[in-house]
Amino acid sequence: MARAVISMGSNLGDRAESLKKAAAALDRLPKCRVVRTSSFYETEPIGVSDEQPDYINCVAEIETELSPHALLGACLGIEAALGRERIYDKCPRVIDLDVILYEGYTELGEELTVPHYAMRERAFVLLPLSELYPDLSVYGNDYLEDLEKLGDQRLRKADI
Ligand code: AMP
Repeated sequence: MARAVISMGSNLGDRAESLKKAAAALDRLPKCRVVRTSSFYETEPIGVSDEQPDYINCVAEIETELSPHALLGACLGIEAALGRERIYDKCPRVIDLDVILYEGYTELGEELTVPHYAMRERAFVLLPLSELYPDLSVYGNDYLEDLEKLGDQRLRKADI
């Protein structure tokens, strides 16, 4: 069994409900179980050029026998099942699942990049992750300094 971290975000529809459904779907996957999840955080959209609702984000740690690519495929399947539509780049979304870390595995590929290419720049990933790993030393990599540099990204714990 390998451990992996999935980040989840939603800024369309019933955001918290979508995160809960996604976590339940991950837990129902064969060869996969959710070990623990962070609190939910409400965050402003980053890098978008239009007016969009705020996101709710969280991270989940799973244990899995799925390969990294099979896990990515399963995440895309869960997104589709929950009604994710890709209308334009960075459009509002019912659910977004990213494979952030996979224990003992790195890849810099077009289909899959692990650790996730933007995790060091995203407080909405690193702050929830720090609930699970308070020193942000995760599977042999350190992210504490990255989070400290991101002080200006607005994040509040969601009251859910
Ligand atoms: P998006 O859902 O817009 O974040 O983009 C998903 C696409 O990014 C997928 O089709 C993946 O092939 C690609 N991708 C690359 N690395 C990752 C990763 N670590 N987690 C999720 N998607 C990834």
